[in-house]
Amino acid sequence: MTASDIAEIKQLLQTPKKIAIIPHKNPDGDAMGSTLALYQYLIQKNHDAVVVSPNDYPDFLKWLPFENKVINAEKDTESAEKIIKEADLIFTLDFNHLSRVANLQNALEKAEATFIMIDHHQSPDDYASYTYSDVSMSSTCQMVYHFLDFLGDTAMITKEMATCIYTGIVTDTGSFRFASTTSTTHHVVASLLDRGAENATIHQKIYNTNSKSRLQLLGVALNNLVVKKDYHTAYISLSQEELNQHDFKKGDTEGFVNYGLSLKGIKFALIFIENKDEGIIKISLRSIGDFDVNSFARTHFSGGGHTNAAGGKSDLSLTKTILAFEKILPHYKKELTS
Ligand code: 5GP
Ligand code: MN
Repeated sequence: MTASDIAEIKQLLQTPKKIAIIPHKNPDGDAMGSTLALYQYLIQKNHDAVVVSPNDYPDFLKWLPFENKVINAEKDTESAEKIIKEADLIFTLDFNHLSRVANLQNALEKAEATFIMIDHHQSPDDYASYTYSDVSMSSTCQMVYHFLDFLGDTAMITKEMATCIYTGIVTDTGSFRFASTTSTTHHVVASLLDRGAENATIHQKIYNTNSKSRLQLLGVALNNLVVKKDYHTAYISLSQEELNQHDFKKGDTEGFVNYGLSLKGIKFALIFIENKDEGIIKISLRSIGDFDVNSFARTHFSGGGHTNAAGGKSDLSLTKTILAFEKILPHYKKELTS
């Protein structure tokens, strides 16, 4: 983001505007934390701002300050499309390609608003007038903090905003353990604590919300774990039937893929999750070191993300998807064993 971009955005925000703030579909802690923090900032600046989410988000985020103000476009399609149509400004956060908003893609493509993108994924598209894209960032939440800093407004960060920003940083960094966590991330976190974010309470609210059925689903997932020792790879699969048997709710499989990665010697871990409603297999990919799962997801599973964390999908059945994956794997033997 250049100095002149910042000056222009400052100018745009000087008079009250109608603003839509959009996270990606199936929003995670970073997408919800960043949109809700930005929302609270814009409201303080007297804008008519609304967070419009393409669909619902997990229960473990349903305590975030102001989350009750979010419009769920799947439930309230008419209002969602109206807000987007009438917006002067549209912020898109934590994604960089309009296909990532699925049901809202059409409305966004037709919108006449000025677009501002804030995102840390690879290969940004060029739909926005102002693009703040930085793949070295731990999270979009950290970028929202920097964005407020560029605008000279970090003093406006309330306890509730700090709570939202902290949530996205903690969830996207695996509680500060991934390589994307830098000293700058920790400096930002320190100032969030100074502004009132309560780290222990936030961790408690995000992570200690398991139901018995979710823990038992984790048991099934671990039981289904397959280790391909020759390729330093491990994967888990969950069928729709297994999900149904454990009262599956959105967000229940969050983090399961990391168990594969926690095995000694494993560099590449995946989880394949059947979604009969959407007729797809949703795939999460994780790696340690320089094995690039963003490129793997892009090449084979119509997806993307970051070097060490990406997602994608397959239109084949669960069994056929896994068979296809097993056929692809040998082509990567050199990269996985070097
Ligand atoms: P997760 O596996 O937790 O859903 O996603 C891991 C990372 O990959 C996140 O940064 C997420 O935004 C990104 N991601 C997940 N699914 C997709 C997808 O289908 N397409 C793209 N481009 N990115 C994805
Ligand atoms: Mn993110």
